[in-house]
Amino acid sequence: MPQFDYDLFVIGAGSGGVRAARISASHGARVAVAEEHRVGGTCVIRGCVPKKMLVYGSMFAEELGHAEHYGWTVTGKSFDWATLRDFVNSDVDRLEGLYGQTLASHKVEVFATRATITGPNSVRLASGREISAAHILIAVGAWPAMPDFPGVEHCISSNEMFHLETLPRCLMVVGGGYIAMEFAGIFNALGSEVTVVNRTDRILRSYDEQIVERMLHIAMGRGINFRMHSSIRSVEKGDDGCLLVDLGDANRVKVDQVLIATGRNPKVNGLGLENAGVEQAANGAIVVDEYSRTSSACIYAVGDVTDRVQLTPVAIREGHAFADSVFGNNPRTVDYSHIPSAVFSQPPLASVGLTETEARATYGNVKVYSSDFRPMKNLFSAHPERGLYKMIVDEVSGKVLGIHMIGPEAPEILQVAAVALKAGLTKQAFDDTVALHPSMAEELVLLK
Ligand code: NDP
Repeated sequence: MPQFDYDLFVIGAGSGGVRAARISASHGARVAVAEEHRVGGTCVIRGCVPKKMLVYGSMFAEELGHAEHYGWTVTGKSFDWATLRDFVNSDVDRLEGLYGQTLASHKVEVFATRATITGPNSVRLASGREISAAHILIAVGAWPAMPDFPGVEHCISSNEMFHLETLPRCLMVVGGGYIAMEFAGIFNALGSEVTVVNRTDRILRSYDEQIVERMLHIAMGRGINFRMHSSIRSVEKGDDGCLLVDLGDANRVKVDQVLIATGRNPKVNGLGLENAGVEQAANGAIVVDEYSRTSSACIYAVGDVTDRVQLTPVAIREGHAFADSVFGNNPRTVDYSHIPSAVFSQPPLASVGLTETEARATYGNVKVYSSDFRPMKNLFSAHPERGLYKMIVDEVSGKVLGIHMIGPEAPEILQVAAVALKAGLTKQAFDDTVALHPSMAEELVLLK
């Protein structure tokens, strides 16, 4: 008789948890997963995937505008939020089903309930059932941080944005990070009047300043309002259902929805970490070593709950490395260098490596190459928006230290450029590559 009910009990069936469960099972482990919401987690259910579909849906506004310049007559244009929302949510249902099938085909048992830790090798389900496991993996992710001001209960997080009854006529977005910029872009394109409220004059803090400046310029040109150095004092619900927002100046702002996008906290409340002596950082994040092991020998943690890099592909790598290390006889760690990232704003921006400021601080002498160009597709547009690509190069070795881009399809192009950075290529290697003409990507091999 085995000593434990399972070899591995995973709490949380998001990107990291599902990958870890599947790979551990394929290494022969007896695996169970508990998920209190929906299989798929933030990325699939209420994050990256449905968000990207909304981005695609909203981009038709721009595309249809372009179409007219290219000679198409488009009559009777109209947009129906409920159609887009329901299409997106039905695809999320489909994906949730696929994730469930993957777990089932690997003989991973799924408990659709909350699980809490009761000891170094045990969990309790909401039903009260105790389960023992040789190893426990915490992969519960993060949850939107909601600031504390009177009336915050009238505001929503990104979780609710996918289920809005109606398209807001006026939307206020609080924060200047990924979620704020992406939803501001989506709803501005869909026709809402969008106001971004940010506590400083800096948005997208981790991105190259010049690229962010270009994004701000374009966003304002497209009609998004920015209230910098502002924060909400209170929100009141009016008789007509509208929200009255006090920003500390004379007039209260009337909007239909207030989206709070001020970061996400590790979702550790009530998880029972104290029952197994699992150490936490000041912000609640679970502290782990490079093998994702916590301070409790048999308990591991991956993904956003560890607050290393809050990105899906990183959580997946951490989950996979955990499974190979613990059950695959192949101890390995995750390489966190040169992680590419993108903001699916409109236009999107994408980045890998050091920003110009970071590179100057680290290397001293760097060369910056850039291309400030008008994408061909925009030539007939009423708003002549320009793309901007930047390459940061170490002056001594010629090695590329960072690439930063804003413009149509920037994330699609940057993914490939990230391979070059990861491979340690020099600017010369880009120069030696023949341009693919006409394309936007060719700017990368023509940088002066
Ligand atoms: P971000 O960390 O990107 O941005 C948070 C924003 O809120 C910042 O502008 C920050 O300002 C501001 N802020 C923080 N606390 C407060 C506060 N108390 N009052 C007012 N403003 C505040 O968080 P998001 O919520 O946008 O996204 C969460 C995470 O999800 C991201 O870190 C990212 O890793 C991930 N994500 C990734 C996406 C992608 O890859 N495309 C898309 C969406 C999310 P300041 O800069 O001054 O601190």
